[in-house]
Amino acid sequence: MLPEAGAPWLLRLLRDTQLAQFYRSILEELNVTRPEHFDFVRPEDLDSIGMGRPAQRRLAEALKRHRLGHKPKNWVYKILGGFAPEQKETTPPSDNPPSLPEPEGGLKCLIPDGAVCRGELLGSGCFGVVHRGLWTLPSGQSVPVAVKSLRVAAEGSAGTELRDFLREVSVMMNLEHPHLLRLHGLVLGQPLQMVMELAPLGSLHARLTAPAPAPPLPVALLCLFLRQLAGAMAYLGARGLVHRDLATRNLLLTSPCTIKVADFGLVRPLGGARGRYVMGGPRPIPYAWCAPESLRQGAFSSASDVWMFGVTLWEMFSGGKEPWAWVPPYLILQRLEKDQARLPRPPLCSRALYTLALRCWALHPADRPSFSSLEGLIQEAWPPEGRCVRDVSEPGALRMECGDPITIIEGSPSSTTWKGQNGRTLKVGSFPASAVTLTDLKGSPATCPVHRGSPAWGEQRRGSVDGRARAKAKLREPPPAQGQRRNVPLQRRKGISKSLESVLSLGPCPTGGGLSPPEVRKARDVPQGPPGLPPRPPFASGSSQSNQPPRERPPWPKREPLHSHPLGAPGASKAAVLSGGLLPDPDLQKRVMEVELSVHGVTHQECQAALRATGGDVVSAIQNLKVDQLFHLSSRSRADCRHILEHYHWDLSAASRYVLARP
Ligand code: AMP
Repeated sequence: MLPEAGAPWLLRLLRDTQLAQFYRSILEELNVTRPEHFDFVRPEDLDSIGMGRPAQRRLAEALKRHRLGHKPKNWVYKILGGFAPEQKETTPPSDNPPSLPEPEGGLKCLIPDGAVCRGELLGSGCFGVVHRGLWTLPSGQSVPVAVKSLRVAAEGSAGTELRDFLREVSVMMNLEHPHLLRLHGLVLGQPLQMVMELAPLGSLHARLTAPAPAPPLPVALLCLFLRQLAGAMAYLGARGLVHRDLATRNLLLTSPCTIKVADFGLVRPLGGARGRYVMGGPRPIPYAWCAPESLRQGAFSSASDVWMFGVTLWEMFSGGKEPWAWVPPYLILQRLEKDQARLPRPPLCSRALYTLALRCWALHPADRPSFSSLEGLIQEAWPPEGRCVRDVSEPGALRMECGDPITIIEGSPSSTTWKGQNGRTLKVGSFPASAVTLTDLKGSPATCPVHRGSPAWGEQRRGSVDGRARAKAKLREPPPAQGQRRNVPLQRRKGISKSLESVLSLGPCPTGGGLSPPEVRKARDVPQGPPGLPPRPPFASGSSQSNQPPRERPPWPKREPLHSHPLGAPGASKAAVLSGGLLPDPDLQKRVMEVELSVHGVTHQECQAALRATGGDVVSAIQNLKVDQLFHLSSRSRADCRHILEHYHWDLSAASRYVLARP
């Protein structure tokens, strides 16, 4: 017989301070079962359970005394409040790296398990899955949120995943910027869950690659996004942080005209005199987005984030294409360093903006612009606006009607043909210069037909018609794809990811650049085996899952995260990945989904593997995954975990609370 779940230490501590009347509320409403949980409790949380400020001070004192005598034993909670860089830049002892500021008053909010209701799946990343959710505040008000749940990793890597997840929490709880995704709070349950601001329009990458009839994005809006991004990154850099994973997949749209930087899992504090962070071991990084010094030495800095900003700009103006898709991954560093190759100018990108990108891709980090200067440089490179003064319907010309707003991508007073985007149709093409007059030179009011309401629009300063940056690009564009089978990205043929390779897991490359041929690199963990499974058995009665109707996968646009993409090609379906290229049957898909929805924080692949191991039995797969979850959270044996789960009728939350209360 298992003892009653509870927290005797808490009861003792509260009795000692004459606060025992708060025992139940602290345990049940605030979900505090361990002393370390108090790190995440704000005074407001204690207010909400009716504890006055003098009592709170008494409690704080008692906790301090308690902690002096009791060091946390469970590794899970040792890292809850902390930030553990893998390796700081080597510096003299006096030159300590700036550490993240301590959270003031704990986490923004500790959210009780029952206050968040999870809905449809929004996506999955390296730590787990993200669901749409509804957070019910103590006032009864409901707030739409996104809930990121920590998934249980393969044995041995659980610590790393948890550490990264908690690092993301630590970073986000200290950030406050209009273009950085906001963390609302943390649910201390099993699995751990981050409750974040919802970006209802999904990722910018998904928007850029959305098929017709979704219209392409206006060039002027892309410029606005660039300016928002530069502002957010300047803020991050000023706080001594490097993002390391800047890409359109990590820019989320909270409104049609607002992007927010998300995914802070790779954020690290900068250190040392050189303001760098150097990777201390083989970890995945977004390879094709990385600066040469990151690929060569695993070195990251604000300047390497600026490089990534340039690649993100390129993605935006290329309609979400994958950078360097036509170059084998092991050759990218050589192309960047030795051949001085750079990504080509996308058709939507003006020369001025492309020159800006080239500056971000300067070989030496010191030669790249800072994020704060980028904000101004974007203003200067902003494409001018014009208005159509006569209908154009000549064959081959961009069609326009009198009055149409036109964004000029290329053109000069001396040229008779300009290139631009029609703000009404969003089509891009060339047209006679005489058909358009400029409307926004010398600070005259700018027009934005599609996004007229954008508050930032009126602030713009314009350059000359063809932009100020007419200087010839010093760096060569990549040569044409002769012999490179441009339409068949190499990594797809090889079945490897080049987007998130670990620099430190790569051997020497032909140029001595620290890379090895793709054949010797380890492919991602792709479950092998036949795609189909035996017919699904009926649910066993009595299971806690048995009365849950199978839910459909939500229609939300879902991007495949590059972090876990075995093929490395955005847009490749997860199903194709799981079955080694073949689509699994719909029944299997349905069962995988049932398992995925029944066990918090597990990935599609883990569900597939669990089903394979049980011959397709959904209930057993769910139970095995729950045993795994509990096993990874505690130091108990799997047999013990199974026993505890059985005792709690397979209620994972209850079983987790039990093991967490008894490390
Ligand atoms: P991540 O683990 O941060 O890489 O997130 C995985 C995916 O979940 C992203 O690509 C988004 O599609 C989705 N996602 C993450 N956070 C949010 C959010 N706050 N709002 C909407 N979707 C999100």
